[in-house]
Amino acid sequence: MTPDGEETSALLGRLPGVRAFDLELVDAQMRTPAMRRLRFTAEGLADLDAFSGQDLMIAVPAAGQAHFRRRYTIRRLDRDAPAVFLDIVLHGDGPGAAWAGSIRAGDRVEAIGPRGKIGLAPAADWHLFCGDEAALPAIFTMVEGLPDDAHALAVLEVTGSEEEQQPEVVRVRLELDWVYRDGEPGTGTQLEEAVAGVPLPAGTGHAYVFGELRQVAACRKVLLGRGLAPEQIDHKAYWRRGVANAPHGEPLRPDT
Ligand SMILES: Cc1cc2nc3c(=O)[nH]c(=O)nc-3n(C[C@H](O)[C@H](O)[C@H](O)COP(=O)(O)OP(=O)(O)OC[C@H]3O[C@@H](n4cnc5c(N)ncnc54)[C@H](O)[C@@H]3O)c2cc1C
Repeated sequence: MTPDGEETSALLGRLPGVRAFDLELVDAQMRTPAMRRLRFTAEGLADLDAFSGQDLMIAVPAAGQAHFRRRYTIRRLDRDAPAVFLDIVLHGDGPGAAWAGSIRAGDRVEAIGPRGKIGLAPAADWHLFCGDEAALPAIFTMVEGLPDDAHALAVLEVTGSEEEQQPEVVRVRLELDWVYRDGEPGTGTQLEEAVAGVPLPAGTGHAYVFGELRQVAACRKVLLGRGLAPEQIDHKAYWRRGVANAPHGEPLRPDT
C-alpha cells in the first residue's frame, strides 16, 4: 500500500486510458540554474497517446515511505527514440525536487499516464498563458502544439533572467512577457499585476493559468475581472507555498 492509499493497479483501473511505464533515465542536463531536464526511455512510449499539456505521475522515493506521487508535464515526447523529457524545478528538498536532482543515468522509476484534462482550446482567436517556472514545461509544450496561424501571449514569473527559456519550436505569433519576482516564489503579486496589464487582442481568447495555488486563484480573478467568462479560463494549481503536495501529487486546498 502506498501512502496515498492507492496501489498502481487500482489507479490504472480507475483512470481511463492511463498506463504504467517503467522509465529508465538516459541522461539529464541543467536547462537553467534551477531547472533540470530528465530524458527517459521506456517500453511502450512509442505509442503513448498524449496531447500537449498532459503529464506523467511519477512514483518518487520518499523517506520512510514506499513513495509519493508527483506529477510532471510531458515536455517533449520522441516516439521514434522512444524518449520522454521532463523539465523539473529544483526548488528545495521536497521528495519531487530531491528525486529530480539526484537521479542518475540508468536509474528507474514508475510513471503512470497520460494524466491531465487541460488541452488547447481549438476555436480560440488567441491564447494567453500565465504561470511560473513549474508551469513553463506545460506552457511551452502547449505553445509548440498550437497551429501555425495562432496568436499566443505568455506572462511568466521567474526568479530572474537566468531562469528565462524559450520554446524550442516557435511557429506561432508569440509575445512573451517575463516578470521577475520580488521575494520568495509564490509570495508576490507581480504575476497577477502583469496579467492585469497585458493587452488582450481582439476576438475570443482562451487563458491557461498554472503554478502556485494562491497565484493561480489571483490570476483567474484578474482575468474574470477583465471580462473573460469562466469557460474561457483553464486553471490548475501545481503547488502551494509552504505546504507539501499530498502524497497523490495535488496541492492541498487551504480548507483541507
Ligand atoms: C498537473 C501538474 C503538472 C506539473 N508539472 C510540473 C513540471 O512540469 N515541472 C515541475 O517542476 N513541476 C511540475 N508540477 C509540480 C510538481 O508536481 C511538484 O509539486 C513539485 O515538484 C514539488 O514537489 P516536491 O515533492 O519537491 O515538494 P513538496 O513536498 O510538494 O513541497 C515541499 C516544499 O516546497 C515548496 N515548493 C513546491 N514547489 C515549489 C516551486 N516550484 N518553487 C518553490 N517552492 C516550491 C512547497 O511550498 C513546500 O514548502 C506539476 C504539478 C501538477 C499538479
